[in-house]
Formats: sequence, C-alpha cells, structure tokens
Amino acid sequence: MIRKPNSNRYRTVEGIVRDLQQAGHQALLAGGCVRDLLLGAEPKDYDVATSATPPEVEGLFARTEPVGSRFGVVLVIVDGRSYEVATFRTENGYADGRHPDKVAFAALVEEDAQRRDFTINGMYWDPISGRLFDRVGGMEDLRKGLVRAIGDPQARFRADHLRIIRAVRFAARLGFPVEPSTRRALQSLAPLAVRVSAERLQQELRIILTDRDPALALRVMDELGILTCIFPELEDARGCEQPENYHPEGDVFVHTILTVEKLGSHPAFVLAMAALLHDIGKPEASRRSQPKRFPEHERIGCDMAREVCRRLRLPRWETDRICWLVKRHMYFRNAPKMKDSTLKRLFAEAGFEQLCELHRADALASWGRLEHMEYVLAKRRSMTRQEIDPPPLINGQDLIEKGYKPGPAFGEILEAVRERQLQGELSSGDAALREAVRIAEQINAPRA
Ligand code: ATP
Ligand code: MG
Repeated sequence: MIRKPNSNRYRTVEGIVRDLQQAGHQALLAGGCVRDLLLGAEPKDYDVATSATPPEVEGLFARTEPVGSRFGVVLVIVDGRSYEVATFRTENGYADGRHPDKVAFAALVEEDAQRRDFTINGMYWDPISGRLFDRVGGMEDLRKGLVRAIGDPQARFRADHLRIIRAVRFAARLGFPVEPSTRRALQSLAPLAVRVSAERLQQELRIILTDRDPALALRVMDELGILTCIFPELEDARGCEQPENYHPEGDVFVHTILTVEKLGSHPAFVLAMAALLHDIGKPEASRRSQPKRFPEHERIGCDMAREVCRRLRLPRWETDRICWLVKRHMYFRNAPKMKDSTLKRLFAEAGFEQLCELHRADALASWGRLEHMEYVLAKRRSMTRQEIDPPPLINGQDLIEKGYKPGPAFGEILEAVRERQLQGELSSGDAALREAVRIAEQINAPRA
C-alpha cells in the first residue's frame, strides 16, 4: 500500500525507527507523513512516535535536541536534518513507557491517535513490518477525500483553537471538503481562531498562503467564516462595487481573492499578503469620495496593511515590503509619464520583481491587460545595471571640503544631485560638484 520513497530522508527515518525498535521500544511513523506516503507523495517532514521516553531517545542517538521534552518531543539530528521523535502521549499528559508490553502497545497508539487533529493525520505506519495502524478511520476519509476531526469536533476545536486554522491547511492542500459535523463546529467556533497567539497564527498563515493553492485556502476560510475573523478589514470589500470596464470580475472581495489566485502556486509570503491586502483601502476611499472611484486607496490601504501586519506581529522587513507593495500597486499605470530617474529608482528597489508579480496578478484578475507592465519591463531591459544604480558621483565629504557644514542641507543637496545623475544630466564628479555648489548657494546652505 505504501511505496517507500527513494530518498536519503526516508532511509534515515527508517533507520531511526529500526534503532528504536532494536533497543526494545515501539516506534512508528506517525501523522502527516503517513498521510502523505499513503497519497504517494514524499512528506515535507517525517515524525516518529515511540514508546521510548525522551531520556531514552536522547541516550540512543548521537545528536539530539530537546525541543519539547516537556511534551515528549526530541529532535534527532542526522546529516544536518532534524526528525521529530515524540513519545506516545494523550492530550493531557503522557502515556509513555508505562506499559511497554504488546497488549498495552495498541492502547498507547490508540491514545496517541486520539490527541491528533484530523483522521487523515491520525494514522501510523511501521516501515519495518509494513503494518498500518488506523484506529480513527483515517484511511476511509483519505479515500473519500474528507477532512474530519478526531473525536467530538466542538470539544477538539475548543481545546486547541489552532486546529480551526489547521483544518483550512489540509482542506486546501488536498482539495478535500470538510465533513459536515466538523464543518458546523468550525463555522460556530470560527471567532476563536483569533485567540490563537499572533506567532502561531502567523506561522499557520505562512504555510497556508505559500501552499499549492492559496486562493482555495482563502475561499475555504471564507466559507467557514474564519477569513474575516482574522482580517475583519476584508468584510467591507464584500459588496464594494467597482466600475465594470476595469473590473468585469465583480466586487473588491471577489477581485482580491482572484488576485491571489493569479499569483499561482507557492507564492512568496509577502507577495501573497500584499495581494490579499492590495485593495483593502478601497471601501474607505469610496466612502471619502464619489462612489466607484477610489482616490488614494493605495495610500489608505498601505496604512491599513501596516495595522494588519502589526496585529500579526510580522517582522519589520516583511511589514515594510508588504506595505510598499500595497502602496505602489497602481504605480505602473503612470509609468509612460515617468522620468527616467523615477523609473531607475523603482528598478533599483529590492521589491521591484515582486511589484511586477503583483501588478500582473492584479491586472489578470481584472481587465486582463498587461500593457503597463510590458512598458515598464521594456524600459527595464533598455537599461544596464550600471545605469539604473550607478555609484553616487559625490558624497558628504566632498561638500565638507567645499567648506559646507554637515547638516540637513547635505541630504537635500545630495538628493538633488543624485536625481540629475539618474536623469543622465551629470556624468562626472566635477560636473556633480559644480551642481552641488550651485544648489548649496541657492538654498543658502550653512558654511563651516
Ligand atoms: P504538513 O505536511 O503541512 O507538515 P502535517 O500533518 O505533517 O502537515 P504538522 O504540523 O507537521 O502537520 O504536524 C504533524 C502531526 O502532528 C499532524 O499530522 C497531527 O497528527 C499532529 N498535530 C499537529 N498539530 C496538532 C494540533 N494542534 N492538534 C492535534 N494534532 C496536531
Ligand atoms: Mg509535518
């Protein structure tokens, strides 16, 4: 039923299981990796469940790390990769090693399975004997294609709210519908999803939004009522009408999800977030002006996106990139009117490639025309790296040598000179210095 993958990772984890078994412990592959193996896919990571206690596991392998030995989890490290080895346990504590005889083994696996989230994630496989242990009906649900909670769904989601969001990960990744009673529980408990700590929520969103089909994940989240619990700002996008000539696809909400879809599989996290948030300012912009026109929605959206990122406690660089993309997402439309210096600054931005991807998805999710992007890319191709971001012709030291006093005026002068350099109007250090002195005199820059 399971074909052993021909990979070093697989051979290593089989070795770990064999070592544990040869030392007299029970050991099995467990959870998500068994699901993936049954589906004929190589798992992202392998987890081992064992009757050995954490100290026993640590005693058996040369390199280990006690990531969660309090919860019975030890990382075994082989060739720089880590494999999670977890002692059989129940939701409320350990069932480990108390009864390491054959009869109790079934009970231990049974208990361990009961603490897992979904039936398809609750199976075990012994790679040595080839036996599958399925006490939760996981195989049947995998065959039918259903995401079903183990045990009473209400109770399981109340006990750990993260499972509410995890349900989305598996439904979207596998394209499985959620089984009806699990679905009802998810719908009624959706608001609990935001009680999950920002760090864990962020981690899960990261997985979901960079997965095979992030737009499907968003649609599943929406159906379950989770999406606008996590992103209440999106509620206003629903029913926010747009001019049909640019947006034949529908309202801002429909367009937003479609934009994420057009990014394709496995987008960068910041890009997926930017696509999700790019038009978040539209409802507010439309309230501020004529309906169906959205002046400055990208600026309003940028501020709103910053608040979303703050709430999710995203790292600073990701927040800045997401907000920059939101703020700039309409930028290409004015490209034909832009000066070369403006375009060069854009091309030199670290986020330029991602802005292209966002613009492309945004256009494909609406009027479908890519002429603005093609113009920008043709311009980009016509310039060398050297032309786009040449070393500055002068610096502050040059101004000091000309007798000026360092201060805010320096920034202004150097910026103006840089602008003219990028415009192609200055090509030598001497010319740049003459221009700097001219500007310094014009603005009355203080002398030392
Ligand atoms: P992926 O392929 O995305 O890694 P996975 O199923 O392996 O999916 P993990 O987050 O790696 O998911 O967790 C491994 C296993 O641990 C799951 O398959 C599940 O059995 C169990 N598990 C993880 N988190 C929870 C949870 N919050 N509640 C119950 N069981 C969980
Ligand atoms: Mg996993």
